Order: sequence, then structure tokens, then C-alpha cells
Amino acid sequence: MNLLLILGIWLAGWADLSFSTEKSPGTAITNVTVIDALNGTRENQTVVFKNDSIIKIHNASETTRGLQTINGKGKFLIPGLWDFHVHLSYEDSLIEKMPALFLSYGITSVRDTGGLLDKLLPIIEAMKKPNSVSPRVFYSGPLLDGRDVVYDGKSRPHIGVQNIDAQSARKRIEFLKSQGASFIKIYELVSPRVFEAMVGAARERGMPIDSHVPLSMRAGVAGSLVDSIEHLRNIELDCAKDSEALHEERLAILKNADRLTGFTLRSNLHRLQRIPAIRNFSRDKCIRTLAAMKSTLQVPTLRLNSLALNPPFERPEWSSVFSALPSTTQTDWDRRIRVQSGSRLTNTEFAEWSLFLVRLMKEQGLPIGAGTDTPIGFAIPGYSLHVELQMLVRAGLTPMEALRSATLEPAKFFDLSEEMGSIDVNKKADMLLLDKNPLIDIANTRTITHVISKGRTYNQETLTAMASN
Ligand SMILES: [Zn+2]
Repeated sequence: MNLLLILGIWLAGWADLSFSTEKSPGTAITNVTVIDALNGTRENQTVVFKNDSIIKIHNASETTRGLQTINGKGKFLIPGLWDFHVHLSYEDSLIEKMPALFLSYGITSVRDTGGLLDKLLPIIEAMKKPNSVSPRVFYSGPLLDGRDVVYDGKSRPHIGVQNIDAQSARKRIEFLKSQGASFIKIYELVSPRVFEAMVGAARERGMPIDSHVPLSMRAGVAGSLVDSIEHLRNIELDCAKDSEALHEERLAILKNADRLTGFTLRSNLHRLQRIPAIRNFSRDKCIRTLAAMKSTLQVPTLRLNSLALNPPFERPEWSSVFSALPSTTQTDWDRRIRVQSGSRLTNTEFAEWSLFLVRLMKEQGLPIGAGTDTPIGFAIPGYSLHVELQMLVRAGLTPMEALRSATLEPAKFFDLSEEMGSIDVNKKADMLLLDKNPLIDIANTRTITHVISKGRTYNQETLTAMASN
């Protein structure tokens, strides 16, 4: 038995023995300030949970006799956070460590937005075991790409699959549903016909749809048909004065006469059109594009898009956070950081644009979700979600709106807002107790003293052990 497994069992045992076992009457977090995006701020509350459910919320003056208690005086209770864009199977050296790392940073739910089922399903199975130290997990299976595939396992890890025609695309979605996928993820090189077939098949099966804006389609068209859009990417193309001409040019290049790999084809298109489009911005066109996506959750992954403005490895806490990663991951990332910091990070136009667009989206009333793309782009599991919240505030969200993006909006995407996303009676027992007020400074989401996940309580000592082992 390896060390991580032993640690996992020990932590699970610790949590179960300490609080909220089947027989226990429940646990009360007393005299606490409760903050969530549905109810706002409620002071002097006592929140009682038992097993995986919040069973009572009352004024702090009422008795908590017979209950286990956690003193919440001077502290702040928020719903457990979601990371709405992760890849659990992307980096072999991190797979085992990821679930506990997420939890140690208060991430109580994750949405995996792309991985091959062969590799992903065993990970999911382990995470869903009753005693596992792990966030709740929702997954799509592979990136559903078109005839050409970006993540085809050649120059990039193999997490995408080919979908040549509508019929096979429909079959694939039927299969994914049978494998427990809770949503689908459509990628950038699908044709409009295949896109339409996927949307139809997913809707028939009640699966929410996540997507990148396919390069063959207009953002307003594709975006209006799905439930969430990732990375803001390709929206800039339809915010340009010459968006029609850019679209025509893309359609011609997408025929791929030179038989380039999917990754090269996509990179060439991004390189050719992205920055010129940003420089040719039309506010009117952009507002029309965004208006078509009014009810589509936007997951901007700002920490990734704005890497050039805010390199994680230049942040003051980086070395202490980084040191918790497995040593093989550290060696690999150190090498890549040396390459990156010397080159790509000098152009900040897309980074600035991303912040600007998130602000415009907020002003236009589009819902926004918090996702990181962990572990891509040096995203440390869990930690990077807190950076994302800070970036969302930097873009113009209020701290409460940032909290909403990592709690209520993800729950709504999965039609789970009756069960998750706020601190209310009958909702799941996923909560974070903080030392400092996150509404004063969103960075205070990191001042976690207790994580309550699936009704189990982890205190600071346990959290530190989880992050460092
Ligand atoms: Zn991703």
C-alpha cells in the first residue's frame, strides 16, 4: 500500500471519528457570519449539519445542546467552492494527489472538462468511494472534436476524439451517457452539422452542454445553443469590425488542404486572427454577440488567459504552494517554467483583452463561472481556484459575484441549485469556515480553518497534512 493511500485512509478515518458519524446528533458551527450569493450576509448564526445535509440554521442565541460544536465566533462560513474546469487525468504525476489537494484548498466539487474514459473512469471511481478524501466530481469524458482533433495524443496529450459526421456523433453521446458522463464538452474543430447533432443528442438525454466556440461557427450562434463556454476564446473574432470576413477566411483554412495536425491547424488560426480581431474591436458587434449568449455561463479561466499579466510562479506564495506537489511534477514544471518565462509571456494583449471582456460580460448580465483548467498552465490543484477568484475581482466582479461564480452558478449549470450553491437547510454539507471576511478581500477565501465536505469535517491540521504529504 502506498503512502498516499495510507494517508487517505487515515484522514478519512480521522474525519469520521471526529465529527458527524451516522450515530452522531450532528455538528453545529456556532455564532458565525454566513455569507453566500443567494442570501447575502447573515450574522450571528448557528448552522447545524448531520451526515451530508444542512439540517438547521438558527440564531446563535438558541441552544446547541447535545451537538458537537465548532466555534465560529469572528469567523465566516461560505459554501464549498467549485473548480468548474479541471482535467483530472491530464498529468500522470499529479493524478493521485489531486483530489486531496483540491479538498485542502476548500474545493468541494470539480467539473472535469475533458479526458479519455479509459483513464478517467478509474480516477472517478476512486474519488466516489464513500471514504475517499475527495471533492464531488462531474465529468464529460473526452473533448468532442471534429474531423481534425487538437488533443490527438501527438503534440498534445490524448484527451480529444474525432467526430466525422452527425450520426457517429449522436452515437458517441449515447455511449457517454451510458458511461455516467454528466455533461458533454464540444471542442474547437467540429463542423456546424456535427455540433448541431451533438446538441440535439445531449438535449434528448438531459445532459448539459459545455463547449469552446468552434472555429467554424459564430460565437453568438454556438454560444446561444449551449450551457457554458470556456476560456472566452474565439469570442474576440465576433467582436471585430470585420467578423464576417474573418469567418469566411477561417472556413477556407479549416478545409485543411495541407493536412496539418489539428493542433497546428488551430494554432495557425489563432495566430492569424486573434490579435488582429482584438485590435479591430467593435463595441456594437461585441454587445450583439454577447446578447445572444445572455443565459450561457461563461467560464473565462482568467488565470490561464492572463498568465502573462500574473504568472503564478512570480507570486510571493508560489514556492511554498509549489513545494506540496510531487517531486516529478516539480522537476517537470520547473523546466517548463524556464522555457515559458523567457518567451510567450511577453505579449499581454490577450491577457488584457480577457479582463476587459469579462467586465463587459458582467455589465451585459452574462453569468460567469470560476474554472482554472488545472493542471494546465501551471495550475496547482485547489490553490489556482483562489487565484481565479482574485482575477475575476481584478476584472471587475465584486467579491460576492466572484463567490457566486464558484458556488451558485456551477450548481445551476447542473440543475442542482436546490441541493448546492448556498448555505440553506436541506442543502449538501459542503462549507468552508474562514478566519477573514472574503467580501473585504477575496484573497481571504484562502484563510480556511475548516473544510466541511460531504458532511465530514477537516480542520487546519488535517488540511495541512493533506496539502503537504
Ligand atoms: Zn481545459
